[in-house]
Amino acid sequence: MKVEIVTVGTELLSGHKRDAHTAYLGRHLHALGLDPSYATSVSDDADDIRTLLRTALSRSELVFVCGGLGPTLDDISREVSAEVAACPLAEDPALVSHLRQLFASLRRSMPANNLRQAQVPKGATVLQNPVGSAPGLIIFCEAEFAGRILILLPGPPKELHSMFEAEVLPWLHKKFSAPILYTRSIMTWGLAESAVDDLVKDLVVDGDTRTLAMLANGTHVELRLSSTDPAILTALETKVLSRMGDYAFSTEGKLLEEVVAELLISAGLSVAVAESCTGGRLASKLTAIAGSSKFFKEGLVTYSDESKTDLLEVPPYVIKRSGAVSKDTALAMAVGLARKSGCDFCLSVTGIAGPDGGSEEKPVGLVHFALAGPNGIAHQQFQFGLGDRAQIQARAAQAGLFMLYRALAGISIPEDGNDRGSLSKAS
Ligand code: ATP
Repeated sequence: MKVEIVTVGTELLSGHKRDAHTAYLGRHLHALGLDPSYATSVSDDADDIRTLLRTALSRSELVFVCGGLGPTLDDISREVSAEVAACPLAEDPALVSHLRQLFASLRRSMPANNLRQAQVPKGATVLQNPVGSAPGLIIFCEAEFAGRILILLPGPPKELHSMFEAEVLPWLHKKFSAPILYTRSIMTWGLAESAVDDLVKDLVVDGDTRTLAMLANGTHVELRLSSTDPAILTALETKVLSRMGDYAFSTEGKLLEEVVAELLISAGLSVAVAESCTGGRLASKLTAIAGSSKFFKEGLVTYSDESKTDLLEVPPYVIKRSGAVSKDTALAMAVGLARKSGCDFCLSVTGIAGPDGGSEEKPVGLVHFALAGPNGIAHQQFQFGLGDRAQIQARAAQAGLFMLYRALAGISIPEDGNDRGSLSKAS
C-alpha cells in the first residue's frame, strides 16, 4: 500500500516555517510498517491543493493532509479535499454545539467563520481536537478515487500530535492490523560513516525482512535496526554490536552526553572540565542534560597560557618546554583541575582548532586530552582531519566526552585516539 504526506501552507514554501509534520508522521508511520512513498508541501492556493491531491490519490491509497483546517479564508484543505473526494460537505450539528460550548467555556463569542469547522464531508469520521478548535477528518473517497482515504490533520504541531496519537494511531492499527515493528538505535562515535557502512553492510541483504539504516550527523553515526520479529532483531543487534566493538555507546538512540550523565549519576561521581580549544563546548554538552547539577561541578575555559597557569596552576615551564598544545600541558591542566575542584573526574582539552596556528610538527586539528580519575590519569591525542574550525571544535568536544565515557564504562583508553584497533567483520 502506498502512503503519502501532503503539508499545506505557503509559509512552508517561502522559508518562513520549516515543515515538522513530515518527519513526525514519517517516524510514526515507519514504526507501523506504513512507510510513506511521497511527501510534498503545497501553497494555500486552491488550484495547487486540488492538483496535488488528485495526483496523490491517483498513486497512493492513504494520504495525510496537514494544515489548512482553521477558520480563516486561506484555510481551504477541508473544502478542496471534500471536492476531490466527491464527498459533499454538510454541517454537523454535534460539531456546531461542540464549537459553541468551546467558545462559551473560553468566555468568547464564536466568530461566524468558525462554523466552517463544523462542515463534514459525507461519510467522514470526525477526529476530536482536545487542544484546539479544528476537528480532524478521515474522508473515505467516492467516485473517481473510491477506496482511497484522506486523513486531514490540523497544522499547529501540538494539535496534530495529540490528535494523531489519541485517534489516528489506534485507527491505523485497527484498519491495517499493522504488525508491530521493533526497532533499535545503535549509536556510535569515532568511526567515519563509510567505515561503519563497510563493517555492517553485508548483514542485511535486499529483500530481507530486517532493515538497517544509517544516519550520520557530525557528532555520531546512528544505526537504526528494525524487524517485525523481536528475535531476529536481537540477533541482528548482537552482530552489529560485535562489529562496532567499543565504538557503540547506546542501543537506545541516546546521545553520548546522556549516557555519560546516566553513568555519572548512577555511580554518584562528579566531573569538572578545563577547556582550551573547545571554548566551553564540553561544559555546554554536559549541562544540557536535565539534572546535570547532580554530577557537574564546574567548567573553566582556560584559553590563554596565563589562564592555564593562574587558574589551573600549570607550571609556566611546562608550557614553555612542551607548548600549550601538548601532552604535558593537558596532563598538568587535569592535575591542576583535580587539585582545585576535588571532583572524581577532571577532564582537560587543549588543541589547535585552526585555521591558523598549525605547524608541521603540530598541525591544525591536533588535540590533546587528559582525564584524571579514581584510577589515575590518562592521556589521549587526536589528529582531526578535514574540517573547519567549528567542526574541529565539535569533534574535540565529542572526543572528550567519549574519553570520559570509556573511563566510566571500564573500556581502555588508547593513547592514540585515531587508532581504530582491531575491528573486524569476523562475527
Ligand atoms: P489554525 O486553526 O491554527 O489556522 P490550521 O489547521 O489551519 O490551524 P495552519 O493555519 O496551516 O493550520 O497552521 C497553523 C500553525 O501551524 C501555523 O503556525 C503554521 O506555521 C504551523 N504549521 C502548519 N503546518 C506546519 C508544518 N508542516 N510544520 C510545522 N508547522 C506547521
